[in-house]
Amino acid sequence: MRNISVDQYNLSSRDMLLLRLSMLTGGILIILFMIGDLQMLPKELADVYVINRVILQLPVVFALLAFSFHRRFFEFAQPAFFLVILSLSYANYYLIHVAWEQAGFSFPYEGTLLYAFFGFFVFGIHFRYALWLMLLSSLGFMWLMLLEPVYGDRTFMNVGFVMGSLFIGVIGRHRLDRLLGKLEEANEQLITLSTTDGLTDLLNRRALTDYSERLFSLLRRSDQPLAVFMIDLDHFKQFNDLYGHQEGDRAIRCQADILKSVFKRQADILGRYGGEEFIVVTAGHNRTEFENQAREILAQWNAMAMPNEGAPGGKFLSCSIGICYGSAADFASIEEMIKTADQALYGAKNHGRRTFVVASSRKRQE
Ligand code: GH3
Ligand code: MG
Ligand code: MG
Repeated sequence: MRNISVDQYNLSSRDMLLLRLSMLTGGILIILFMIGDLQMLPKELADVYVINRVILQLPVVFALLAFSFHRRFFEFAQPAFFLVILSLSYANYYLIHVAWEQAGFSFPYEGTLLYAFFGFFVFGIHFRYALWLMLLSSLGFMWLMLLEPVYGDRTFMNVGFVMGSLFIGVIGRHRLDRLLGKLEEANEQLITLSTTDGLTDLLNRRALTDYSERLFSLLRRSDQPLAVFMIDLDHFKQFNDLYGHQEGDRAIRCQADILKSVFKRQADILGRYGGEEFIVVTAGHNRTEFENQAREILAQWNAMAMPNEGAPGGKFLSCSIGICYGSAADFASIEEMIKTADQALYGAKNHGRRTFVVASSRKRQE
């Protein structure tokens, strides 16, 4: 469906190829029409006709094709399509005018409709541009017909036909735009639902793994350090038993909020790994900065002082953190880093909880 409409940065390379092929097809169609038209045109019009097609219309189409290779094409694709179709239509009006003036010949107007429909449905001109195209094309045609009654008795019936057809095209485009908009919205909602954890609004486990794998393979090509944080609430079973499951859920959301406030960069990957276990994958800092982030998480729990009276050895809810730090190139996979972070978390639990332990790759041991 996507190749129906050229939205910003929305086209795959296959869609782009199809779009360019359709531009080329447009050029070929003009050439084919030339061959047909030259059969029926009076001889004295041949020169002006060929000049119009070869010097005006074909270069416009091929300029669009060339422009499609420019890196900023997407930004200007819609106005470019609009201008191309409008100029082709007006080049046709000029032909109708000259054919009538020079030879009293009624040059067909149907090309105007063909151009407009090509723009609406092959290029995917958006409704706003389609509406302007309809108005300006209709006005031009009406003006021409007022100046010269090219089609005799049928002149004004043809004006109605051109305007009516363009109107139908614009309404069709409008419906298609609305449908595509709804489809895109529904798609986005589905993606959000399938990647988000309902309780915390962080990534769910599957999305967390997917995004981390992608970041990991990206960083593997460079020597940039990254860290995997594994965070688990301390004595949470007791917390649930004493305060109830709903309070437990609230504590889980608090943990998510703390993580969101510490890892604020867009590229940080924050997710709920399961139960009251969270994972953060973050890059672009050094070891000290990562450690400071862990300290900040612990400090926020301390500051919150959420009672956990049933926990042995501490009256307030806290968490433990295991960090795996190193260069992606030093690990076989993101799973290996997660496993290492899990072992570090186990170490933090054994060190009395409410603390963090860093495990780094051999090369990064400092
Ligand atoms: P430790 O300090 O060793 O981590 O001890 P713990 O009691 O926290 O042990 P563990 O990490 O295994 O705790 C898991 C508990 O988390 C068990 C379960 O009752 C609770 N839990 C898991 N998911 C949810 C949830 O979605 N909501 C609530 N309220 N509790 C959950
Ligand atoms: Mg726990
Ligand atoms: Mg746990």
